[in-house]
Amino acid sequence: MFENNVTRRGFVTGAAAVAGLAGLSTIAPGLAGAAPTPADQHTPAEIEAAEAGALAMMTFQKIDGTPVYYWRSNRGNTTARNWQATDAFYNALVAWIRDLRSLSSSYGSISYIVSAGFYVNKAGQHGAGTAMDLDHVRWSGGNVTSPLDQHHASGTAALRKRYLATEAVCRRRFRYVLDGWYNADHRDHIHADFGGMPVRVLKDSEADTKFVQGTCNNFRGSGLAIDGIWGPATTSAFNGLKSALGVTGDPHTSTAVWQGMLSKIATKGFANQNI
Ligand SMILES: [Zn+2]
Repeated sequence: MFENNVTRRGFVTGAAAVAGLAGLSTIAPGLAGAAPTPADQHTPAEIEAAEAGALAMMTFQKIDGTPVYYWRSNRGNTTARNWQATDAFYNALVAWIRDLRSLSSSYGSISYIVSAGFYVNKAGQHGAGTAMDLDHVRWSGGNVTSPLDQHHASGTAALRKRYLATEAVCRRRFRYVLDGWYNADHRDHIHADFGGMPVRVLKDSEADTKFVQGTCNNFRGSGLAIDGIWGPATTSAFNGLKSALGVTGDPHTSTAVWQGMLSKIATKGFANQNI
């Protein structure tokens, strides 16, 4: 998903929100023509609503009680913000943050997260209210992970592991996840959306392959090129990762197997342990 750096960082309140919702009618033909598959988490009701120009958007300032701040214009700002997403996407965000709390519980509670946007008045998943850009997570014990500060490329191994742990949790709930290795547009946030569901790891996905390559390198010193091409070296490294984590079954076809493997990666990452 290519993103526009100007419009992506906008967020929507008040009259702009109304205008944005009205503008959604312009994407209805695209959604209607997309022939959504049973694997797509957009519900039939959502598709019908989109066709009618009235997507079921909700406004939120917190995800399951955790505040979501906006730092793109004022770093460190803790003013409550009105964000928008579809009901279904918000529900997925709730599942995601509950996973994150559980897998990172040794860090304390999650004090807040920081986003660059959810619904944004543009084409694609952000325009449909089914995407998140994650900038930063802060835990009560003082730890942070900061895609905004390019922690995927940090000189500190623990921060790289924590970034990958956080991305792994995103991947438990969203298959289409773009990270700092994916391209320059995503070096300062993790993008997650409803595309390509259900969750699994695909060898022909550049984004999935780069995540696997980054994980093998940072947890096992695999020394792979992070090029997004799933070749023999990546296969070998991935099989080693699976074996070391005690994963059986096929994460390329089974959502449950891949979600379980992601939880194990996240646990190791938050504990700053090699695999
Ligand atoms: Zn995005």
